[in-house]
Formats: sequence, structure tokens, C-alpha cells
Amino acid sequence: MNLHEYQAKELFARFGLPVLPGQVAASPEEARDIAASIGGTVVVKAQVLVGGRGKAGGIQLARTPDEAFHKARQVLALTIKGLPVRRVLVTQAADIARELYLAIVLDRGRKLPLVMLSAEGGMDIEEVARTRPERIVRRPVPLDGIRPFQARSLLKPLLGDGRLVAQAAEVLLKLWRLYHDSDCTLAEINPLAVTADGRVLALDAKVILDDNAEFRHREWTTWRDPEEETPGARMARERGLSYVKLDGDIGCVVNGAGLAMATMDLIKHYGGEPANFLDVGGSSSPEKVTTAIQIITGDAAQGQGIRALLFNIFGGITRCDDVANGIVQALERAPLQVPLVIRLTGTNEEAARKILAAHGLTATTRMDEGVRTAIAKAQEVTA
Ligand code: GDP
Ligand code: MN
Repeated sequence: MNLHEYQAKELFARFGLPVLPGQVAASPEEARDIAASIGGTVVVKAQVLVGGRGKAGGIQLARTPDEAFHKARQVLALTIKGLPVRRVLVTQAADIARELYLAIVLDRGRKLPLVMLSAEGGMDIEEVARTRPERIVRRPVPLDGIRPFQARSLLKPLLGDGRLVAQAAEVLLKLWRLYHDSDCTLAEINPLAVTADGRVLALDAKVILDDNAEFRHREWTTWRDPEEETPGARMARERGLSYVKLDGDIGCVVNGAGLAMATMDLIKHYGGEPANFLDVGGSSSPEKVTTAIQIITGDAAQGQGIRALLFNIFGGITRCDDVANGIVQALERAPLQVPLVIRLTGTNEEAARKILAAHGLTATTRMDEGVRTAIAKAQEVTA
């Protein structure tokens, strides 16, 4: 789950990280009141779950409450990378001398958290990462965490000045505490600003929480923004199905996470692109299958669309006839707009074939054949 900046900053404040006072507003009037209560220059910031808000005009300085009103009206009318701005954060402005980048991110390759640090923070960090990757320092975090002396020695070359190093080291140690205790996969500060009067401040905050840890963080349910989730992702979460949307065009309904991954690998192997990971689970029911089809086609309708739908079912505890009934029911409710390819084998396979045949459908027993057929059909649709 991604947190909005205003939520991430509330979390930051709880861990003692240096953030400036601010509040979220849904209307220009509210923004004006908040600006008045803060006093002085404020920044009006679009609250959408994408980066690059600054470049899209979503970050505006306002010197007076009236200006905050107008800037908020302007920003609330924006759509940034497809996401309408529904709220703005109105926060005290800072007099920035330097912008650094500081993040702790889960490095899945190394199976360790990684501190990432750069003297060239701010809005062009992606550009730095692409063209001058050596300008970003990367340090794996040992399992027992970061020690104060490690934080200082990491920051010393970037900041020099002892007081700044001490403040920034404090920030890094607190960011580590937050990352660890809040079960994050990312805790990022960009920019980590050095102000003209020598303070180190977190002016932006980005936090991604590991959904697998939701069971031990009750409050997370109240943080989730339902409008930012795809309809498919929401449905999958509510029904307890593991689902990850991807960029390809072959929808996959598979039972078991291992088989689902093998299916995606095989699709890639034969030159196709999976549209999703979806594990309908070990046991089966027709309802699960109809839900799975709704999830995939629902998300496809929002995105670029899928060009084929592949079922890959290995019947163990899962009964193939349950799956076949689910497919038939789903098609009766809403006919598919794309070719359907079914591979199934195992428990009650014969019964499944009869159910499918009665509705003019066939299924292969071979995964290899199923995958290749799905890719071929997807290409026909494109052609
Ligand atoms: P992002 O573009 O979505 O990452 O949004 P940020 O919150 O990082 O803001 C983008 C840029 O706006 C920053 O890199 C700063 O240059 C500028 N900015 C943000 N907050 C302030 C502030 O309080 N004062 C000033 N002067 N600039 C700010
Ligand atoms: Mn930023």
C-alpha cells in the first residue's frame, strides 16, 4: 500500500522526523484557512499517489491565504498521470539551500534493506539514477540495523559540516526505525532539504507499506485510499485472492502461486506478456472462478485491455469440474470479448470436459500447448 504524502508525514512526525506543520484540504476554502493558521508562505501540494507532481504543476508556493486559495483551486483541478487531484496538503514553506535524496528500500535481489543517498536530490533524481548512477550511494543495511557512527560516516562526504551531518544522521536513524517498525518496503525523503538557516528537513515523504504485514497494523485499513486502487485489486483484496496486475496482454487464471509463476515464465519464454499474476487458491468453487474473470476483465477495461484469457488449472484439491462450472457460469453472465484458452488436468478432469463440451468449449491437458495457443490467439487479435 502506498501512503499519500500527508499520511506519510504524519507517520514521519510520530517517529520524530523533522517535518514542517501542515494539513490536508479538499477545497480552496479549507486551504485558505489552513494557510492562515500556519502563517507566512505555504506550499500547496497535490495529494496523488504518483511521483513527479512538481513537474506537473502540482506543487505551488503561496505567500498569503488568498493566494493559497487560488493555488489550491488550480491544483485541485489537475489530473496528474491519470489521477484526479482530490486533496492538497497545505504546509509551511522552507527556504531551501540544498536538496538531497535519502531512502531506505527493500532490495529483493540482495534480500536486504538498502540505504540510498545522493547529494543530487530533488525533482531530477530519476534522471540522476539513469545517467549518473554513481552519484547515488547504496549501502545494504545489516540485519541488526544502522549504527550512529555508520550513519555519520555515510553522510559526512555529502554534507561536510558537523552540525548538518549530526542532524542528517539523526534523520537516517529515525527513518530506519520507521522503515523497520512500520513494515515498509520503501521510506523515501526527496528532497531532504538543507535550509538557508542550517536545518535538515523532510520536505517530501513517500512510504510504501508491505501489505503482508497488514494483520499487525490495525490502523492501515483506515489509511487505504479506495479511489487509488484498481477495481480488480480491490475485489481481489476483499475476496482474499492473490493478484498482481502486470503490463502484458494475456490474462491468467491459475491455481497455486507456484503454477502461476511457472505459467508467467512460460508465457515469457514463448514471447508473450502476462497481464497479471492471479492465484485462485488451492481449493475451488465456481464463485472463485467467476470472481477471477471479473477481476481480470474489470482491470483490463481500465487499462490497455487483454487479448486472450488463459486458464491453467492443475486439479489436486482443486476440482476441475468446479473450475469448468465457474467458467460456464461466468460466460453465461457476461460473454468474453477475447479468446479463451483452457488447460486443465487432474481431479475430475473428465467431468470438467463434459461440462465444457456441453457449452462448446474445449480444454487441453498440456500446459505448453495452452500457453502457446493463448499467445497465438492474442497475436491474431492484434493482427
Ligand atoms: P514531487 O515532485 O512529487 O516529488 O514533490 P516534492 O514534494 O518533492 O516537491 C517538488 C519540489 O518542490 C521540491 O524538490 C522542491 O524544490 C519544491 N518544494 C517542495 N516543498 C518546498 C518548500 O517548502 N519550499 C520551497 N521553496 N520549495 C519546495
Ligand atoms: Mn519529491
